[in-house]
Amino acid sequence: MGGSRIAFLGLGNMGLPMARNLVAAENSVVGYDVGEAAQAAAVAAGLEVAATAAEAVAKADAVVTMLPAGDAVSQAYCGEGGVLASASPAALLIDSSTIDVATSRQVHAAAAAAGFAMVDAPVSGGVAAAAAGTLTFMVGGETAALQRAEPLLHAMGMTVVHAGPAGNGQAAKICNNLMLGIQMVSVCEAFLLARRLGLEDQALFDIASKASGQCWSLTSYCPVPGPVPGSPANRDYRPGFAAAMMLKDLRLSQGAAAEAGLATPLGAHAAALYEAYCTADGGAADFSGIIRWLDRNT
Ligand code: NAD
Repeated sequence: MGGSRIAFLGLGNMGLPMARNLVAAENSVVGYDVGEAAQAAAVAAGLEVAATAAEAVAKADAVVTMLPAGDAVSQAYCGEGGVLASASPAALLIDSSTIDVATSRQVHAAAAAAGFAMVDAPVSGGVAAAAAGTLTFMVGGETAALQRAEPLLHAMGMTVVHAGPAGNGQAAKICNNLMLGIQMVSVCEAFLLARRLGLEDQALFDIASKASGQCWSLTSYCPVPGPVPGSPANRDYRPGFAAAMMLKDLRLSQGAAAEAGLATPLGAHAAALYEAYCTADGGAADFSGIIRWLDRNT
């Protein structure tokens, strides 16, 4: 269902293809990004781009944000010239960034105090799913706000799950990416061991993808070139999902676990490995590129 005026803030690896799917669903979209390269890429992709966030949101029926981290989300919503100051309170607010639960709940509270309906709606699926419109959205917020968001979320994704009240979408996302980080390291370790045992990459893939080792990191995002042609391993680990983002999410899960008084030992170890990989290689490459660091250091 189209026909909405949408402001889309954050036109990076994920945001731009998501915004394009909203356009494809016949909504009118005005984008905004603080980065010049992202702005230029959006214009080249045919998106209308405003000069400021305030201009982008001024006439919007809905605002979607896809930003790197909690401080950027706070700034975009609560800062000077931000969404709460510049949009109509009739606009629905959808934050699809992955951020910490506490910041998400603070922004929800500020939005509610300013009269806005809001959902946190982080995504799973990566850049390919963002482009194909097959993301999974995990949504926190009131049912009425979710019902208003659903047509837009379905224009960008295939699955929409209500995780509970404000911030629970972020809680679900952090738990999901705790699994993802651990699983990616496990798949990389298995390929490195298989090679040393004389097993071809394709042979391990053909077997494990039909056996009990199968998981998304193997079957959709294989960290070695060949078996999954669209995976970042086939383009020298260009993201995709940057290693720095994975480290951010693992740190979020470690922070949440510490606050909850829960030990997550494999999560802690995965976070330490991603930290070492990002320190060594800069963090800009895809998170599956950790296989190269593991190969050098294990
Ligand atoms: P990205 O760095 O490619 O894009 C983020 C964009 O936000 C950048 O272009 C940046 O310039 C812009 N930005 C920062 N602050 C801004 C502000 N105040 N106003 C407007 N624009 C601003 O990151 P990404 O890979 O697109 O990820 C975005 C979010 O989605 C992150 O929270 C990430 O954890 C999450 N996510 C990413 C993936 C993935 O595969 N890349 C998958 C699931 C979730």
